[in-house]
Amino acid sequence: ASTALSRIGLAGLAVMGQNLALNIAEKGFPISVYNRTTSKVDETLERAKEEGNLPLTGHYSPRDFVLSLQRPRSVIILVKAGSPVDQTIGALSQFMDPGDCIIDGGNEWYENTERRMREVADKGILYLGMGVSGGEEGARHGPSLMPGGSYQAYSNIEDIVKKVAAQVEDGHCVTYIGEGGSGNFVKMVHNGIEYGDMQLISEAYDVLKVVGGLSNAELANIFSDWNKGELESFLIEITADIFKVKDECGEGQLVDKILDKTGMKGTGKWTVQQAAELMVAAPTIAASLDCRYLSGLKEEREAASEVLKEAGMREDAGTVRNGIDKKRLIDDVRQALYASKICSYAQGMNLLRAKSVEKGWNLNLGELARIWKGGCIIRAVFLDRIKKAYQRNPHLANLLVDPEFAREIVQRQAAWRRVVGLAIAAGISTPGMSASLSYFDTYRRARLPANLVQAQRDLFGAHTYERIDRPGSYHTEWTKLS
Ligand code: NAP
Repeated sequence: ASTALSRIGLAGLAVMGQNLALNIAEKGFPISVYNRTTSKVDETLERAKEEGNLPLTGHYSPRDFVLSLQRPRSVIILVKAGSPVDQTIGALSQFMDPGDCIIDGGNEWYENTERRMREVADKGILYLGMGVSGGEEGARHGPSLMPGGSYQAYSNIEDIVKKVAAQVEDGHCVTYIGEGGSGNFVKMVHNGIEYGDMQLISEAYDVLKVVGGLSNAELANIFSDWNKGELESFLIEITADIFKVKDECGEGQLVDKILDKTGMKGTGKWTVQQAAELMVAAPTIAASLDCRYLSGLKEEREAASEVLKEAGMREDAGTVRNGIDKKRLIDDVRQALYASKICSYAQGMNLLRAKSVEKGWNLNLGELARIWKGGCIIRAVFLDRIKKAYQRNPHLANLLVDPEFAREIVQRQAAWRRVVGLAIAAGISTPGMSASLSYFDTYRRARLPANLVQAQRDLFGAHTYERIDRPGSYHTEWTKLS
């Protein structure tokens, strides 16, 4: 190993860490790496050699690792979220000095980041919680990075993260997010939005397959086509690819052999919990989470399909299918997907804004949409439209009322209603599309039946109500009047 000090260090060499370290080295920043299990250090050194003699040095003890770095030191940690992060900080920080910085790149709960920030501040150590999105590929060739916390710490690594992040036509997919745990929070909501996108795509697939009777080959073509238009995105692209993959263990395509039970790691649940805490309606994201829970009840669903006669519903799907115009269905589903997606993003952005107000983070929603245009899982052409909507009006109450989105969603209403209606008639569920449509219909109604709920609350609990025609709070002795 050379005696020259490295510009930056990275501890935690699983999928994400290993690839991000190689990416950093490839961009010309000498990097030191460390992992608790040392075989991963050797693995990474091997890859650095194979992938072009990248400037990467391996270290087998926390002390050697930390002392191999230029001061002020910047150390990225990419280990399992939770106590492994505390343990890693414990192991490394004892060798660090005031002004050095720890950067947690994991999917961490933002309050853990804020606690650690305070803990290491006692030693004068700076801290960043940096959301990293893009999976293995992104980490290796250009992720979307969401660093929040100490601005000084960000300045120290700004040149590195700008080169390492994905590049899009209007810049690097990284920006200083804000103070505290804002970087982790923004990454969490990104993942919540990702749940929504994946759910909506799976519903489009379900309607096309069950109502439209489309084959995997047809689906592959449709999704490829969609990827050339307004829906162009990473998730639509990989969906098209998935339909083409043959099952190596038997006949047909692999997708049909995959057990219908969705896994999850917690960021979607946190997003929905935060939406509830902040009193922001996020029904599309919540529906996606609920669907993951229901998908997990495979045996119960199989039993229920007998008791509740799913077979009968299949006939209904057949009846619905009989009169179907395939071409029109495909076009309708595309529009329903796009309209539903607008609602889902509106919810996510509103959640971010509510948190930003609560915490004083001053989040720039347009800039967040911009750094999501490349590198991350939700990357899409669509995000440019969101960026522009917030540039037109940074105080936009809701994406739905941006003039462009309003026009687009209104144009797609009829198709959207047809798709949800067909799904209901066929007895297949489209919880994400339905939740989005209900969100739209509720949000755009000047008068809701909430007057009746207020009357009920006042009747049984004397909670009082306001009137539409005069100011003040009122209470009525309802039962005496009836
Ligand atoms: P991971 O499977 O979450 O974690 C494995 C790493 O954690 C290994 O380096 C392991 O070291 C280390 N580790 C576990 N417990 C430890 C402890 N008590 N002390 C020290 N080190 C410990 O790895 P990952 O999938 O690369 O993800 C890293 C982080 O990035 C996670 O927060 C994850 O949520 C986030 N993330 C992942 C993805 C993805 O696509 N995988 C995408 C975005 C973000 P050993 O080798 O010694 O066991």
